[in-house]
Amino acid sequence: MLTKLFTFVSIFDDIYDSYSTLEESKLLTIAIERWDEQAAEQLPGYMKFFYNKVLETVKDIEEDLKHQGNKNADYIKKLLIDATKCYYNEAKWREEGDAPATVEEHLLFSMPSSCCMHVPALALVAIGATSDVIDWAMTYPKIIRASCVVGRVINDVASHERERDQYSGQQQVMSTVEACMEENSYTAKEDAYNKLRELIEESWMDISEEHLRLAAAQPPAPLLEVVVDATRMLDFLYKDQDAYTLPQALKRVADSIYVDPI
Ligand SMILES: [Mg+2]
Repeated sequence: MLTKLFTFVSIFDDIYDSYSTLEESKLLTIAIERWDEQAAEQLPGYMKFFYNKVLETVKDIEEDLKHQGNKNADYIKKLLIDATKCYYNEAKWREEGDAPATVEEHLLFSMPSSCCMHVPALALVAIGATSDVIDWAMTYPKIIRASCVVGRVINDVASHERERDQYSGQQQVMSTVEACMEENSYTAKEDAYNKLRELIEESWMDISEEHLRLAAAQPPAPLLEVVVDATRMLDFLYKDQDAYTLPQALKRVADSIYVDPI
């Protein structure tokens, strides 16, 4: 279930970030909010297949979960609708807004659209967390917020390094790297990378602290581990390079788990 939903989230990200015009992405956001096959009529041709696939797949997943006695299957729809709104807000801000002067200002829009709240929240739905816990996750408590900051910033640093090599510095989207350079009057990108790596470290400290603090109370520890593990996955994907965009970098690891287990 998570693989399917994660795939959708990735495709949404590509549509909003790189493929659609703002007007088209607005149509997609409205259609997703309607969540109705008829709404596909209003979409550009290239989105129709994808849109219908999302509706169809989520319907199957919801049925499966309901068969398992899961009472919160409806949250999948809610979370995907919310994710597309976050993507749309980010796209709109990029196109119409002023260039952010600080990392914090950048994160106002780019933190929710990291979808690092949505993915663990979907995992919480899958493992049968109560609606209280899923609602809690959706309010961006400190541990989730820190996970989103790790996700956004680690992605920006890794892809910035990759894009710099690939396109010799032609950055299409202003990332937290540029915001960090602007904020600190840096001229070298490496200074921004180092500063942002410090922010990642600090956010990990928040995650550990919140994990320990909350585990003693509510929600129970296994649910918090979903958030910690989702953030670990990001660390694994982006630590050395942008292995999310260039997954061949993970071939050896995937082989050692699934093909030739060590
Ligand atoms: Mg994006």
